[in-house]
Amino acid sequence: QLSKRLATAASYINKGARLADIGSDHAYLPCHLAQKSRISFGIAGEVVMGPFASAKKQIQASQVEEVVEARLGDGLQVIEKTDQIDTITICGMGGDLIARILDDGSKKNKLDSVKRLILQPNNAELKLRRWLINHDYVIIDETILEENDKIYEILVAEPGVNPLSYSFEDYLFGRILRTEKSTIFVKKWKKELDKYDYILQRLAESNRDTRDKKSEVERMMMIIKEEIS
Ligand code: SAM
Repeated sequence: QLSKRLATAASYINKGARLADIGSDHAYLPCHLAQKSRISFGIAGEVVMGPFASAKKQIQASQVEEVVEARLGDGLQVIEKTDQIDTITICGMGGDLIARILDDGSKKNKLDSVKRLILQPNNAELKLRRWLINHDYVIIDETILEENDKIYEILVAEPGVNPLSYSFEDYLFGRILRTEKSTIFVKKWKKELDKYDYILQRLAESNRDTRDKKSEVERMMMIIKEEIS
């Protein structure tokens, strides 16, 4: 059984997809989908030896060796042209790292056959949205969910031309998420406000010159308050 977070990411994978799950760790996602015959091919990519070994074990234990392959390597380097990967999932990493992986991969033409990206950054969603929009991906869906007291965002993107320009608020909050303004969305940004409030208190106690930092934090707090009020 997949976690709610991974099950939500999985719900965006089309039946019969040729999937690369990058940073797969135990390879739960591709193994589960292969068992349910929802993918026709899967790569579980890992850069660290320990998780790579776990992925191999899980593939064997799930008896999906015919469909899923564990590969050791950095980011999208595990993808070969002949794999004809059409879907990539990158879940459970920082948004900065996900953007770096996509950037390296796109420079090495690893995204050429890819029709859909399903990304679950643990933070820095703004930077990831910026990378996507700047590289001609359309964010076709976004979702926000809560599991074990943690709030996660999932972004789904496809290659295409963005008809509208993105505002700073669209990058920060997500254009789709801010239109929906769900209870979890409001909860997330209230928590962020608390974090900024704490930073302000720390800055007030500092004996260095913190005026620039303080006004930056206050600006962010104003933007957030306006969004959720
Ligand atoms: N994707 C799984 C999930 O969401 O439950 C596992 C997430 S785990 C927190 C992050 C995994 O990404 C780790 O196993 C780590 O080794 C792997 N990772 C980190 N940087 C990577 C990179 N550049 N290329 C491939 N895997 C990477």
